[in-house]
Amino acid sequence: MKAHIVGGGFGGLAAAALLIRNAEVSGADITIYEADERLGGGFFLGGSAESGYNLPGSVFDKEFRCTFDLLKSIPSARNPSISVTEDFFAFNTGEPYHDRAHILDRNGRIVHGPRYGLSLCDGLSLGRVLLMPETMLDGRRIEEFFSQRFFSTEFWFLWSTIMGSLPQHSAIEFRRYMNRFLYLFGHLSDMTGVMRTPINQHQAFIEPLVAWLRPRGVNFLTGTFVRDIGLAPSPNSITVNRLEYERDGASASIAVGPEDLVLVTTGSQAADFSTGSMTEAPSPRASGRSWALWERLAQGRTDFGNPDVFFGAARIPDSLWVTFTVTDTGTEFSNQIAALTGSESGRGGLLTLKDSGWVLSLSVFHQPEIIDQPPGTTVWWGYGLYPDPTAISSANAWTNAPARRSWRRRCGNCGSINSWTRSWRHRFACLAICPTSTTSGSLGAAATGRPPFQRGRPILDSSASTSRCPGK
Ligand SMILES: Cc1cc2nc3c(=O)[nH]c(=O)nc-3n(C[C@H](O)[C@H](O)[C@H](O)COP(=O)(O)OP(=O)(O)OC[C@H]3O[C@@H](n4cnc5c(N)ncnc54)[C@H](O)[C@@H]3O)c2cc1C
Repeated sequence: MKAHIVGGGFGGLAAAALLIRNAEVSGADITIYEADERLGGGFFLGGSAESGYNLPGSVFDKEFRCTFDLLKSIPSARNPSISVTEDFFAFNTGEPYHDRAHILDRNGRIVHGPRYGLSLCDGLSLGRVLLMPETMLDGRRIEEFFSQRFFSTEFWFLWSTIMGSLPQHSAIEFRRYMNRFLYLFGHLSDMTGVMRTPINQHQAFIEPLVAWLRPRGVNFLTGTFVRDIGLAPSPNSITVNRLEYERDGASASIAVGPEDLVLVTTGSQAADFSTGSMTEAPSPRASGRSWALWERLAQGRTDFGNPDVFFGAARIPDSLWVTFTVTDTGTEFSNQIAALTGSESGRGGLLTLKDSGWVLSLSVFHQPEIIDQPPGTTVWWGYGLYPDPTAISSANAWTNAPARRSWRRRCGNCGSINSWTRSWRHRFACLAICPTSTTSGSLGAAATGRPPFQRGRPILDSSASTSRCPGK
């Protein structure tokens, strides 16, 4: 039996490792086809200390059971004498999140009140969504079930910044996330129970998996785009009989036997993501390659679902995510954030500036975030929940004065956060656009032809109580 795995992200790599470990398939009989030149998909690591790193943030919890069961068998990259799972839990036990200031208002005050600012009516609406059968939520958006006020509560800021939910996302996905993470509910504001990788996800998960798979003979075909999957005519089942792919500018086809396995990643949250630099804007890429295979498979048939719900130019306003990674040669900024929030540097979780233009969240990682990160550098990460796509081309220009003013406005002119935008001497920032990144929110409603959500600043919650930052 041969196994053909389309997609070299965590899913594809994990599938290969499970086939070897649990099903005793020989590595030499497994081929991974990855369109990108690099493996890792959404768990990417780009750039360098000199040019500025580019990486995603990291949110996990102890209930990623299949992941941690698999990673028990994989030696950690930073300490091969223990497994990735042991390294992950030892780190999170030793350095747990202790977020003392998750949401700040424009005056630098912590937004935190009883019941996360939820009213009885909000609580009933939440209960209704959680108890409603999924069939009744199909194709509907979160915003259809709550008042406008709900989206300005402390609860919504906490939830949406940790889980990446937006009002226009699918109510089904929201319900699943709520049920999955309900046990964290009591500690959303200090992020107790939320975990992160000890270093960036690429080096924490992807590199160790690849290092385990390679000596076992797995064939990695990077730069290989699977264009089509041939299906044998059969009345009651779907049977693959060939794969067609493009590599080095040439087309190739491989026969798939009846006893072979084909496992396919359809699409990617990081599809078409584009990275900028200190001087260049990330330019939109619209290849749609990560979705093309699914689109091809779904052509003229319903049993492969409806990819149009997730991708394409029409979906971008609902699914766009903008993140940025800052590589700092000093600790001035991270020290200021620690003083502002009262959280020890690297243990503060997320800091959301709720009155900022894009509703920015920042996360100062526990250092070093990258193996071999030069001593003295600090890497931190941020994202805008409500980015303005029209402002992205100017947002890249980190080094000129109008751009700095614009970032200050975006940061809501929030006290010492502004110093971040003032001092750029030794800082390398990298902005990345992920046009389909929040599609995990399953934009079901969009498929039904409803007009796209009108993005706007969330209204301010005057009822949410505030307290002074401990550091101020
Ligand atoms: C900025 C950001 C932050 C994130 N943070 C977290 C987090 O903290 N915690 C978390 O659990 N998740 C997070 N995610 C989501 C995470 O990326 C996904 O959970 C994870 O990457 C899913 O792995 P996957 O293998 O299923 O898909 P992907 O990682 O997307 O990999 C799919 C791969 O398949 C390839 N591919 C697709 N089609 C083809 C084809 N036709 N031919 C060949 N190759 C193809 C793609 O190029 C891609 O490399 C984040 C995502 C982003 C973008």
